[in-house]
Amino acid sequence: MVKINRTPIPPASLAIEKEKVNGSYTNLDVINQLKHDFNDKCYLCELKDLTDVEVEHLLPHYNRKIKERVFDWNNLFYCCPHCNRVKNNRKYDEKILDCCKVDPEKFLNHIYRDGKVIITVNNISNDDDIINSTADLLQNCFESKNTGIRTIQCYQRVKRLEETLNTLYKTLENFKNNKNSMPYLRALKAMLSREYKFAAFTRYYVRSHINEYPELKEFVL
Ligand SMILES: [Zn+2]
Repeated sequence: MVKINRTPIPPASLAIEKEKVNGSYTNLDVINQLKHDFNDKCYLCELKDLTDVEVEHLLPHYNRKIKERVFDWNNLFYCCPHCNRVKNNRKYDEKILDCCKVDPEKFLNHIYRDGKVIITVNNISNDDDIINSTADLLQNCFESKNTGIRTIQCYQRVKRLEETLNTLYKTLENFKNNKNSMPYLRALKAMLSREYKFAAFTRYYVRSHINEYPELKEFVL
């Protein structure tokens, strides 16, 4: 999960749809703006170029009982169906970090080690309910095994993450070992931008190995 810059002005259809009995919060202007603002990535698993997409409400509206939340632009998040289902659990209600307002990388460590995703919270956030709950949710978006379908969906995400990180490791090695390191530096800059797939993981890896790659510091701040 990385920080998202949400366009402040809500898409026009939201105000119109809000006045209808069963108005829609998924009109094309909303989807297009979310797709753009969220860099075409699920805000939870960071899978990119989603073919299947849903609009997720960060704060639940309980079957439209809290109408304000249904159409509140700041409550709408770009999400893949898998993560939306994982999040749809009472224990996460009102307890997930708003990545449009705070930078999740300040509180969460996105680790990939021995074929597994491990999301940990840093020391200053140990007692923070929302941070802990967000870490648990992210962990479950990659590692929940409670149904067969969920297991496969998690497996696919972990596989893609692993491919992405393998490319990162190779590029880092080339960057270190080649005299003409410029093309690799450019590639790394792209891989470490928040727009990149699984950026929380690529950025975390480089941040935790920054002594080996001090030239990359400005890209992971
Ligand atoms: Zn997802």
